[in-house]
Amino acid sequence: MQSNDAHVKRMADLLREGAAMLSQICPDCKTPLFRLSGGEVICPGCNRRVVFAKSTDTERVATQAAVASSLEAVIMNKISDIRSCLESTTDLLALEKQIRVLSALFDLLEKVRKTKL
Ligand SMILES: [Zn+2]
Repeated sequence: MQSNDAHVKRMADLLREGAAMLSQICPDCKTPLFRLSGGEVICPGCNRRVVFAKSTDTERVATQAAVASSLEAVIMNKISDIRSCLESTTDLLALEKQIRVLSALFDLLEKVRKTKL
């Protein structure tokens, strides 16, 4: 649970730093990959660099749609987790963090839904 939260926070931080979320997920931990402004692709879950194997465009598009669907479900679960946390949080700092993460998750959700189209 703790690592999951750190995980989401890391993704939110990456988005704030201007990293782009990719449609690919990490094969190890199923976290969406991010491209940093320097062009480096990393997995925020494993905290390591990722190098892609080349694939055809058709494969890529099919993968992209499948990834978007599974990712959408994960994000919805996360949002619902945080929603339950919000109800019991009285610490304003914690509340602020949760709201920031929620907002990043909704951004993510919007991007994922665009990918599916
Ligand atoms: Zn990973």
